[in-house]
Amino acid sequence: MKEAALTNPLCGAKTRSGKPCEKFPLASKRRCRLHGGLSTGPKTVEGRGRIAAANTKHGRYVNWREKRAKEKYYLGEIKRVMQPLRALKLKNLER
Ligand SMILES: [Zn+2]
Repeated sequence: MKEAALTNPLCGAKTRSGKPCEKFPLASKRRCRLHGGLSTGPKTVEGRGRIAAANTKHGRYVNWREKRAKEKYYLGEIKRVMQPLRALKLKNLER
């Protein structure tokens, strides 16, 4: 979605008629002044927290990057441990 926003120079927000907005976004923004381009976003830590709380449905994907990194590390370890055993098994099968 972000790539589409970068390649398409138009605002693209859904208008009240249902069509994408055809105005140009503000400089260094993705939306025009009518569709959130003037927004500064949350300024305080408390504000950021409120936004996060409002957009969280169940928390299943909270910290998913860290969880996935840990998972990948363990899978890599399993692979590392199993590699010599698999080679050994293949060697025994050749006999
Ligand atoms: Zn717009």
